[in-house]
Amino acid sequence: MRIAILALQGAFAEHQQMLRRLQVDSFLIRNADDWNQRKDGLIIPGGESTAMLKIMKDEGLFAPIQTALRGGLPVFGTCAGLIMLDHEHLGTMDIEAKRNAYGRQLGSFFTIHDFKGIGDIPMTFIRAPYIERAGPKVEILSRLDGKIIAAKQENQLVCAFHPELSDDTRVHEWFVQICQSRQAEG
Ligand code: GLN
Repeated sequence: MRIAILALQGAFAEHQQMLRRLQVDSFLIRNADDWNQRKDGLIIPGGESTAMLKIMKDEGLFAPIQTALRGGLPVFGTCAGLIMLDHEHLGTMDIEAKRNAYGRQLGSFFTIHDFKGIGDIPMTFIRAPYIERAGPKVEILSRLDGKIIAAKQENQLVCAFHPELSDDTRVHEWFVQICQSRQAEG
């Protein structure tokens, strides 16, 4: 089991730390050569989606990532990573993200809230998006004040918050399980 972490900018180191705690091997993707290594899943971290998209295109990573995700490679997107999977970006999930969706006063906040299949987990939001439209194939995993903040579509998992910034490893464990099931399918 080896998970790739997109490391163009943003909070990639924290995801790698999380996987280390789960004793899962990972490596960082900065360019198309890195991408060519064998991988069982991909994490797209939080950061700044506009910058991430530009670097992804400049490095020739946009098309190969899109092709791999369409082919079923498991992906976990957090915050800007969620935005990257929506219809205006990689478009592999049938979702529309609203960027910087929480007003200025609530730009960043912390809460403990329910996540389907796990229970109450700590959630750190940093200039977070929410999902304003989700298609019929999308399973909603969490809502906060009525807004969708976590969802899954086949092997694609997204959170508007930052699970990598807490001590709770359960969302990452779930993603690793998705990667393991895919690996077992061959
Ligand atoms: N506000 C950022 C964006 O729109 C996302 C913030 C984050 O990833 N923490 O891309």
